[in-house]
Amino acid sequence: MRRIAVLNQKGGVGKTTSTVNLAAALAAEGHRTLVLDLDPQAHATLHLGLLPGRSGPSLYDVLTQGMPLEEVRREVAPNLYICGSHIDLAGAELELINMVGRETILRDQLEADTESFDYVLMDCPPSLSILTLNALCAAKEVLIPLQAHFLALHGLSKLLETINLVARRVNRELRVAGVLLCLYDAGTRLGGEVIEDLDRFFDGRRSPPMPWSDAQVYRTRIRRNIRLAECPSFGQSIFQYAPSSRGAEDYASLAAELQGRQPASLWIGSGARAHGSDGAHEEAPTARSA
Ligand code: ADP
Ligand code: MG
Repeated sequence: MRRIAVLNQKGGVGKTTSTVNLAAALAAEGHRTLVLDLDPQAHATLHLGLLPGRSGPSLYDVLTQGMPLEEVRREVAPNLYICGSHIDLAGAELELINMVGRETILRDQLEADTESFDYVLMDCPPSLSILTLNALCAAKEVLIPLQAHFLALHGLSKLLETINLVARRVNRELRVAGVLLCLYDAGTRLGGEVIEDLDRFFDGRRSPPMPWSDAQVYRTRIRRNIRLAECPSFGQSIFQYAPSSRGAEDYASLAAELQGRQPASLWIGSGARAHGSDGAHEEAPTARSA
């Protein structure tokens, strides 16, 4: 079982979009996949077609009442399950303040779970709160979505510092699997510069052995694609909503890369060689490669 926390304390970088669509890609390949929505805003819950609060209990009940995960879990597509969020999760920080071992509740619940999954993807809130801490204690890997923006690396040191603290104190197995560039404008200089900055950033910090020593910048980049922004309001993943869009192509490619296969997107390698260099919102002219 691979347990992956999708984390960046900044909002709007592509955490939820990546959690949901990567999970959908993995499920479509036949892997049993569970999404844990740890963000009180419940965007992943909505994205997968559930109404927070109206679809039964949520992770709030798991974290504060000790409810087992199976009572909260819903199947939303073949092989795809979610434990939803609820706005009440925003109060969990205070409610749990006096509870001993509050950072390992989720890990303990996952270990006690009656079902097993190939992938557990955790969508984290844009903060370094007790909810994020629960994800970092339950995860073995961290995937960091980053927006290709001139301030992209701002805050990354702080994030890595937090990951390192958790790795040293509570979860020795935790490692940063990789950084994913989202909202990527193919063909712009900025995109290329951010990638160079990232490579330099990690290369200067790989020794002594750190949780990010083997971190990679994924070759798959998630291009800006309007379909990805549209599908949450239909409660559908990109593979249901627009299966031949660039967004679907990119998340299928990420799923392949995550499993050690060759990324599928044809355009990868150089931003300048992307279909057109306008970074526009149009769909890819070619069908998805296999
Ligand atoms: P986070 O979870 O980090 O706050 P989201 O995944 O919710 O970020 O993305 C922020 C906004 O950007 C959302 O409205 C989402 O639909 C949109 N978005 C995310 N990725 C893309 C993309 N590749 N192309 C276009 N819009 C995107
Ligand atoms: Mg989000």
